[in-house]
Amino acid sequence: MSEFIPQASCADPEDKNRLSIDAARQRIASLISPLRAWQRCAIRDTLDRILHEDIISPLNVPAHNNSAMDGYAIRSSDMLDDSFSLKQVGVAFAGQPFQATVNQGECIRIMTGAVVPDQCDTIVMQEQVAATDNTITIHGKHPKGNHVRYIGEDLKTGDVVLRAGRRIIPADLGLMASLGIAEVNVSRKLRVAFFSTGDELKSIGEPLITGQIYDSNRYTLYGMLKRLDVDVLDMGVVPDQKEQLRHTLLQAAQQADVIITSGGVSVGDADYVKEMLAELGKVDFWKIAMRPGRPLAFGQINNALFFGLPGNPVSVMVTFYQFVTPALRKLMGETEPNAITFQVSCIDAIRKRPGRFEYQRAILFKDDDGITKVKTTGGQGSGILHSMSTANCFILLDEQCDGAAANTLVTVQPFSGLI
Ligand code: AMP
Ligand code: MG
Repeated sequence: MSEFIPQASCADPEDKNRLSIDAARQRIASLISPLRAWQRCAIRDTLDRILHEDIISPLNVPAHNNSAMDGYAIRSSDMLDDSFSLKQVGVAFAGQPFQATVNQGECIRIMTGAVVPDQCDTIVMQEQVAATDNTITIHGKHPKGNHVRYIGEDLKTGDVVLRAGRRIIPADLGLMASLGIAEVNVSRKLRVAFFSTGDELKSIGEPLITGQIYDSNRYTLYGMLKRLDVDVLDMGVVPDQKEQLRHTLLQAAQQADVIITSGGVSVGDADYVKEMLAELGKVDFWKIAMRPGRPLAFGQINNALFFGLPGNPVSVMVTFYQFVTPALRKLMGETEPNAITFQVSCIDAIRKRPGRFEYQRAILFKDDDGITKVKTTGGQGSGILHSMSTANCFILLDEQCDGAAANTLVTVQPFSGLI
């Protein structure tokens, strides 16, 4: 009879061979270098893509001194008294400059966006002017330069407007258009293959028998990957069988830059992912000092990066956001800083034991006095997927933290920006 040897399992809080989240992130980052491939795209097709070149302004913006108001363009040297009159000698519209000279004692009517004639340096709003036929009278003081938008005030020719490594947002599309730029280089899209592992998993549309569950991880993974604007390759559900796992992993490695699986990375009797990976590639299994989401596999199969996420639905999401997202961003050349965190008062007491970094699901809200606070979503089990739907942030609790009293400050990481 063979001797029973207890194994370190995911439920073992005393396991010492575990990595801190920072160490795990650093190891992943050190093993990834950005893909060097890019493509040239019309700017509308670059939304959410990663810029692969610095964008240099070919123009001054604005290109001319122009008026910020509807009113009158005047020469400040004419403002000798608190009340003075000027002869109106013309009109400038946006796109239709006044072509002649504005002499001493003269002014022009000017519309917002119209070029300010060289001789004028100040705009007086029309509301502050009494106009009769071709003469206007102005009262009061009007600082020199008032309501003039100066040439190059926003951008000067040669300025770096957007840096390589930036994820392009709607404002950037407008900015590039304002510079007359039609096409730019963006990193090529990543191709990410993913599948779920588990004999108990059924795809939606199939009837369930006792003990079976619907596969949700492929759907959350799909959503999270789409938000990162990668091309996805859904390889379905793979049962806990070595041959099928081997076949699917090899197929995925042929077609994708990155492979992501969920389930089967723990120490259960049907957790074969580990064995297959040892055979097919260079993959490390890590126990990470975090909750949820302790086991994580990371490595390479042929030319593809591999992430083996845990099976529990919340663990999948937390490990994806905390490890896979920064890794994919680096791979696609993105250089933006990580998601922001800040401190806010939590109205609930938080229970936690020291030893693991925790990502608790929580809701940022405004209380009756309009003050932003946070509350937890309640049960924090790693299978409670609806906690991720209800939540709008994580509460981040350090490894050493042993809980928090109600109404004390906690660190939160809002989902917007993260996801
Ligand atoms: P495992 O890591 O394979 O032991 O799975 C841990 C837990 O997550 C088990 O309760 C599984 O049934 C569940 N699980 C694994 N994969 C999925 C999935 N794709 N969708 C929903 N639940 C899953
Ligand atoms: Mg499983």
